[in-house]
Amino acid sequence: MQDPRTKGIASTIRVVPNFPKPGIMFQDITTLLLNPPVFKDTIDLFIERYTGKGISVVAGVEARGFIFGPPIALAIGAKFIPLRKPNKLPGEVISEEYVLEYGADCLEMHVGAAQPGDHALVVDDLVATGGTLCAAIALLERAGAQVVECACVIELPELKGRERLKGKPLYILVESH
Ligand code: AMP
Repeated sequence: MQDPRTKGIASTIRVVPNFPKPGIMFQDITTLLLNPPVFKDTIDLFIERYTGKGISVVAGVEARGFIFGPPIALAIGAKFIPLRKPNKLPGEVISEEYVLEYGADCLEMHVGAAQPGDHALVVDDLVATGGTLCAAIALLERAGAQVVECACVIELPELKGRERLKGKPLYILVESH
């Protein structure tokens, strides 16, 4: 059964049609952040799931994974790793390119941030085609970490992103259609 807190989460996400381009129904989590009890419920649901599971790394995807990832990492005693768009990280990086609906993008991670033996959780706000999470998993695995699960607030199930996650489990709080 769905946790009753997910109702408030679903109802505070604003859907903006045709942003950033025609045909996209943009799921705007900034309206969820304006509601402190619902923002807390969102973080609490993740903390409840991942406390005591041996996760040593929370990797957040730029940019909205930087909102949800750090409070989870702090609560479960894991390190936080930002996975960034190209040319933002100052140190030596490894990069993974991935395909978007139109064109390509890339994620980067600092060398040495994740280590062999780390157990990692990947966090983002939303999974659509799964390309972004797939690149995040690849970066962590190249560093020798084991990816335990991916966690997002929202899934767009029609796009079947969970099938692209190299067999990793995906935990989501709400589905959007
Ligand atoms: P994908 O790689 O196709 O799974 O896309 C996921 C990434 O793109 C996430 O970082 C999302 O923040 C962003 N994204 C894709 N589609 C949407 C959407 N409809 N609304 C909000 N964000 C989206």
